[in-house]
Order: sequence, then structure tokens, then C-alpha cells
Amino acid sequence: MSFDYDLFVIGGGSGGVRAARIAAGQHGARVALAEESRMGGTCVIRGCVPKKLMVFASSARGLAEEAHGYGWLEASAGAFSWPDFHGKLNLELDRLERAYTAGLDQAGVDIFLQRARVADAHTVELADGSRKSAKHILIAAGGRPQRPDIPGAELGMVSDDLFLMDSLPRRALIIGGGFIACEFACILQGLGVETTLNYRGNAVLRGFDGETRDLMTRQLGSNGIDLRLGLSPTGLARDGDGRIRVSFDDDSHDEFDAVIFATGRAPYTGGLGLAEAGVRLQPNGAVEVDDWSQTSVPSIFAVGDVTNRVNLTPVAIREGHSFADTVFGGIPRKMDHSLVAHAVYTRPHELGGVGMTEDEAKKRGGVDIYATTFRPMRSAFAGSPAQVMMKLIVCSETDRVLGCHIFGPEAGEMIQLVAIPITMGATKADFDATIAVHPTMAEEMVTMRQPTRRHHHAEAAE
Ligand code: NDP
Repeated sequence: MSFDYDLFVIGGGSGGVRAARIAAGQHGARVALAEESRMGGTCVIRGCVPKKLMVFASSARGLAEEAHGYGWLEASAGAFSWPDFHGKLNLELDRLERAYTAGLDQAGVDIFLQRARVADAHTVELADGSRKSAKHILIAAGGRPQRPDIPGAELGMVSDDLFLMDSLPRRALIIGGGFIACEFACILQGLGVETTLNYRGNAVLRGFDGETRDLMTRQLGSNGIDLRLGLSPTGLARDGDGRIRVSFDDDSHDEFDAVIFATGRAPYTGGLGLAEAGVRLQPNGAVEVDDWSQTSVPSIFAVGDVTNRVNLTPVAIREGHSFADTVFGGIPRKMDHSLVAHAVYTRPHELGGVGMTEDEAKKRGGVDIYATTFRPMRSAFAGSPAQVMMKLIVCSETDRVLGCHIFGPEAGEMIQLVAIPITMGATKADFDATIAVHPTMAEEMVTMRQPTRRHHHAEAAE
């Protein structure tokens, strides 16, 4: 049977673009890709990239304050102009979008800038009504922010909207305690917005290492962010003066110029025709796939956030690449999701982690914890009480390092490098054999000699 294409990709984000480029450019497949919005997807257009640039913009005030501690009398970040920054940001995103499109063009991929849906196991229907047949279809449609089901939720923004604001709000409420809530609370506060963070638990970042969660929660408070923990919003309503009145389940209420829901993301599979084509979906809409990213329909594959495995850009890229190599390059490659490092880009300290957390170690047993907490030279000299934490989780029996968690400046950069030996199976003895680089914060990684504590036996899960 002949098809229009060997591969039709739905979604021009990190996973879809990588799969299309490798399949066409390296393995000679005839490939088409449909994108309904802007090429580059969440990471490039409304996620990691613009967010990180906003993190840099919001860091200026902290750096100026630190300069005071080093004797700079006039150091000041001055006044921040959102329009100036935003204009420049948009130019950068336009440039990246063009680069993504050029990469696909060079690989010979046909691009359809419109919505596509699956019509059957080998057919894609485009928004203009045309149909394309393909031997394989790849679903890489990503995820979308979700709002809680409370009255007036439509009055709140989601992370996508933050990159489109014409001006900064004077007073903002962020709801949630995950990656986006923590990062944007620091960004907005750093840019001069009076920021409140509401999280339903008592320490942000559920699922992360407990000590880093506590340090992050404390850092948010010491940044001047108004933390409202242990309560949930019950409704939003527009006030006469245009502000948003938010009610909480402890019967309190408050008014804000902007409310931002950072309450998680959901796979973007609605209306894609997947269930009708026989593709099995999970209750939350995620596409069910096996280790090869293959769905219950053999000709249809899925990668990235739409599968709700590990929802991070580099994972989607690797999944897309592995899929293309396996199906079109004759190089069978599975994605290993077991040791994926992550970072939360807050200020002044970031959080970086890879592998087992101490809570997981307690449940497993047979684990030694090496941990150190200290005031780093640079900020301590400037008078800051901020503390760094570094932790290694080590198997007592094999000496293998099972996890590493860092809370400190540039922890994202550090965890990327520590993730290499850990992925290679390094032991604590390998870390100890490494000569320190002095004076750095990271030298603590190779100088922790005695376990701080040991979890000999498996503890019952809480
Ligand atoms: P997360 O899943 O990280 O966090 C969602 C937060 O919202 C949790 O604190 C959760 O609380 C809370 N929540 C969920 N539902 C409700 C509700 N109904 N009412 C009140 N609170 C609620 O999602 P994010 O939106 O922060 O980020 C989405 C994903 O994007 C992340 O999982 C990550 O994969 C990716 N991302 C990665 C970044 C990075 O790599 N630096 C940066 C930003 C995003 P609870 O914990 O109690 O369930």
C-alpha cells in the first residue's frame, strides 16, 4: 500500500520537531508535520525559554543588593521596564521559531501550519479538510495548563498568558506549589510585583526531596512572597474596580490585580480523534504507550507530555529521537526514564535533583545519606543568611550513588554535571577519589566523608 508520507507528526514542539528532523534528515523518510500554533511548542514559545529569560531579568535586583555587600555604594537595578524586556523577548522568540522552521525545511519536512486530527490508523485530517495518508503517525501534541473547577476560574490566567501580558500587575496571586508556581512567584516578586503564593499543602514541591522542599518554602517566604499555605481557593469574582476577589476555604478573602493558576498541566488530546481511531487513553487523556512509544494502534506512536511520562523537554526530545531511530533508522532505542535530572529555577537559590529522594530511600532501607548545609562564601560575605544544601543518597551495600539533591545558586548547572557520573553508576568511593576544585560550593560533593544519617531498614510508607 502506498502512502503520501512515511511519517506524519502532529505537534511542532520539542518531541515532534526532533522526531521529524531525525526521521527525514538522517533516515531519509518522507515526513510531514502539522502545528496549529507557533513552531517550537511549549518549551520555546510559552515555557522553558521565555521563562528562563524572565528569571534572568528578575535576578538583577538581587545581584545589585549583593553588590552593596561588596562595597558598591551606588549599586541599584533601577526601574524595570516590562515593555522594553517584553519587546526584546518577543524578537527572540520570533528568531527561535524561524530557526525551528528552518531546521525542518532543511531536513525536507513538509509543514502544515494548521490543526490536524487522526482520521484512522493511517490518515490525518487537516483543518482545511484535506487528508494525508501516512505509514506512521506520531502524536506529539503536548499538554495544556489546567484550572481547578471553582467558580470564576476563567478570571484567572495560566502560565501561557504570562508571556503575553502588556504590563505587570501591581499585586498578583499564584495558586499551586509545583515547578511553575515556585518559579513564577520568584520571577514576579523579583520584577517588583507584590506576590502572594497560595498552596494547599504545607511545603511546596510535593514529591521532591523533603529537605529541599523545606528550604524552598522558607526561601520563598524570605524573598518577601506572602505565603498562604494549607488552604485552597473556593472562588474568584470580578470586583467593581476591576480587581479579582478570591475566596479561600478558611473563609478569608483578598483582592488581586491578577490571579495565576499554576495547578498542573493535562495532556492535550481532546478532539484529536484518538479514541475513535482505537488509541487507548488514560482517564486523564494521556496517550498510553509502551517502552517504544507505540500506542495500542501499531502505526500510531506518541512522545512527550501527551503521554504524561516525565513531562520535561529533554525527555520529549529523547523520546522523539529514539522513536525516529527505531522506526526509520533500524537502530532500536528505548528511552530510559529512570534517572532524569530536573531543576527548579528560583532565586536566589535553585533546586536541582536526580534519582532517589531521601523519602524514597527511607522506604527502601539500606541507604546512607551524606548531607551538608552551609552559607556559601559569596552571599555570606555580602551578609545574606541564605543556605545551600547538598545531599547524596548512597546504597549501603553497593556504595552506588542513587540520588543527588542540591539547593543553591546555579543548582541546575550543577545537577546536570552530577547526573553524568550517577547515570554511569558511580559509587561514593568514585566521588571521594575526585579531587576538589577549591574554593567552590560544589567541592562539598567530593568532601563529605561520614554519613549524616543511615536508613538501615525499610520504613513503612506514610
Ligand atoms: P506541577 O504538577 O508541578 O504542580 C501543580 C501544583 O498545583 C501542585 O502543587 C498541586 O498540588 C497544585 N494543584 C493541583 N490541582 C490543584 C487544585 N485543584 N487546587 C489547588 N492546587 C492544585 O505543575 P506545574 O503547573 O507547576 O507545572 C507543570 C509541569 O510543567 C511540571 O510538572 C513540569 O513537568 C513542567 N515544568 C518544568 C519546569 C522545569 O523543568 N524547570 C518549569 C515549569 C514547568 P499538590 O502537590 O498538592 O498536588
